[in-house]
Amino acid sequence: MSLEGKTALITGGYRGIGKAAALRLAQDGADIALIDVAEPEKAAETLAEIRALGVKAEAYQCNVTDSEQCKAAVKAVTAEFGKIDILVNNAGITRDGLVLSMKDEAFESVLDVNLKGAFFMIRACYSGFVRRRSGRIINMASVSGMMGNAGQANYSASKAGLIGLTKSVARELASRGVTVNAVAPGFIETDMTKNISEDNALRQSIPMGRMGKPEDVANVIGFLASDSAAYITGEVIRVDGGLAI
Ligand code: NDP
Repeated sequence: MSLEGKTALITGGYRGIGKAAALRLAQDGADIALIDVAEPEKAAETLAEIRALGVKAEAYQCNVTDSEQCKAAVKAVTAEFGKIDILVNNAGITRDGLVLSMKDEAFESVLDVNLKGAFFMIRACYSGFVRRRSGRIINMASVSGMMGNAGQANYSASKAGLIGLTKSVARELASRGVTVNAVAPGFIETDMTKNISEDNALRQSIPMGRMGKPEDVANVIGFLASDSAAYITGEVIRVDGGLAI
């Protein structure tokens, strides 16, 4: 129970990778605050699974594209839990399409959630981390942001931007005992990837020959949140079965 006494805030935490991360951090003893654009009632099942592990867990509705909502959510979580020790910026969306036919809205909405949302949450948590001289920030990037992907110019740009954000904030906060890292998953079995066909060329090219599970990503989040990762910052860790080698 290495995270006992710590509070983890996870955006996009009601389902998919965010839910797996919440369960993993709860297994390690952390109390859990879930943030999601959907209303808290939608989190009932996830909250029950987390609480069954013996930790405190609450859900908060917050659209991460709205800076005021991010500030209010961080304030509410801090009031309820006392502090935030671990921030997992996991909320993300896709609006795939070729550049020629990509609408402004498709480009902007993906940048807004995946990149601006993470920035707003980091900024809202920043002074708390600095004051306590400790903290963990873990950003959910993607191999798409490292190698590019046809049909995902918006998504790749947002994730590459998130990697730049990770490295810059890591440099800003290194002397304050706060580590900032990114995880870059490949193809993970969640709602986001359920429509990717088995004969998709990129999926076919995964060296390990299979898609990953949300738990594969959650394990790395658990490690980065732990004391074992205290000397790692500004890093991007791929969890992709070798896809981006
Ligand atoms: P899901 O689509 O399963 O879950 C995304 C979560 O983000 C949902 O809970 C969703 O809420 C929430 N969310 C979306 N928009 C907002 C918003 N504006 N404010 C707050 N919450 C929001 O995705 P995954 O679990 O697959 O992905 C999680 C992260 O991992 C994303 O950042 C994604 O880009 C990244 N990733 C995923 C990969 C994969 O193969 N699955 C590969 C590489 C990276 P709601 O339930 O209400 O819609």
